Amino acid sequence: MIEQTLVVIKHDGLARGLVGDIVSRFERVGLKLVATRLVKVESDLAEKHYPLERREFIEGMGKKTIENYQALGKDVKKEMGTEDPHEIGKEIRKWLIDYIQSGPVFAMVWEGPHAVELVRKICGHTLPLLSPVGTIRGDLAHDSSYLANTGKRAIKNLVHASGSVDEAEYEIPLWFNIDDIYSYERVEEKVMR
Ligand code: UDP
Ligand code: MG
Repeated sequence: MIEQTLVVIKHDGLARGLVGDIVSRFERVGLKLVATRLVKVESDLAEKHYPLERREFIEGMGKKTIENYQALGKDVKKEMGTEDPHEIGKEIRKWLIDYIQSGPVFAMVWEGPHAVELVRKICGHTLPLLSPVGTIRGDLAHDSSYLANTGKRAIKNLVHASGSVDEAEYEIPLWFNIDDIYSYERVEEKVMR
């Protein structure tokens, strides 16, 4: 079950000085940092990282917006001009591409047992408003789809984390050369054996 997963601290995390806090959460659970890089994302990487062709990803973002509007009693069609999750997702993706390029980001590869699921659990829900206390997004942010869409911007939720093993396998090579991913032992590996 040893997996690798991509985590990117988005620019709001750097601008708010939260890199150390975020990194320490992955370290203390026992995950191993095997690659890291401060990156100024160019549009080619941004487009590939958020692929327009991945329909379930685009629709998924639209669905999160629709659910958040319903929970807040807001009329998504009136406010966004459509209630089609794919159309809403395409609009969000444009803001997302601007957001990931808005300043340097801190990219990392974390390795360990169940790394993908563990990292997602530590990051919390996409919408910080719905993310439990104890998670990065729940402890350190407060944004919602409604606030973000009204401001015509992506949700500021501090981190990107691969959503599945397949996503991690697609994303890691976009951000890192294989030679820049390292192997070493952490003491927990002996203790947990
Ligand atoms: N996002 C947004 N509005 C939404 C849903 C998503 O701005 O209603 C942004 C948010 O920054 C999120 C990113 O789109 O991190 C990618 O969405 P995804 O559904 O993959 O969420 P994640 O995997 O980051 O939790
Ligand atoms: Mg995602």
